[in-house]
Amino acid sequence: MPSNPVKKSPSAVRPFFPHLQTPLTNTSIPDITLGLPTPERAHALKQWNFTCHCSLCTAPPAERDASDARRRQIDSLRDHTVRAFQADKPYQALRLTRQVLGLLREEGGGLFQMEGEQYENMARNFWVVGDGENAERYGRLVVEGLRVQGFEIGEGDGDALEGLWRRFEEEEGPGG
Ligand SMILES: [Zn+2]
Repeated sequence: MPSNPVKKSPSAVRPFFPHLQTPLTNTSIPDITLGLPTPERAHALKQWNFTCHCSLCTAPPAERDASDARRRQIDSLRDHTVRAFQADKPYQALRLTRQVLGLLREEGGGLFQMEGEQYENMARNFWVVGDGENAERYGRLVVEGLRVQGFEIGEGDGDALEGLWRRFEEEEGPGG
């Protein structure tokens, strides 16, 4: 395992293709509320003088409460994942990331972008522990997700994956 003092936390890193970053001016309403529970969502939208009438914001209280509880749990688990990763506990980070993915799928809706982040975390953790097969499996999901969102990445999957490993190596030090 690489012992790199500048080890990055999975969620704190740049997207692995820097040129794919969405310019701030393109921030849309769904983006600023992504994954937030009801009160935080309402607060964020207020700054835009916007009241949301989507199916989630107008759902019956019980349904909204369940969604809020899931979103808070996701948030807390993402936090724990970062801490596990920084504490050199990649297997714990993998377990936590799996839980986040499960909750994201349960929550459904527009949290697709957050799944991509989790796939990258999975790929990174497997890369760190030297499990190339699983790193590649999740790496492909990252690439696929970006393509679905309309990004053109490399010549093929091989090219795109090489870019991912290069980035991991830059951020975590040689290894994998
Ligand atoms: Zn809404």
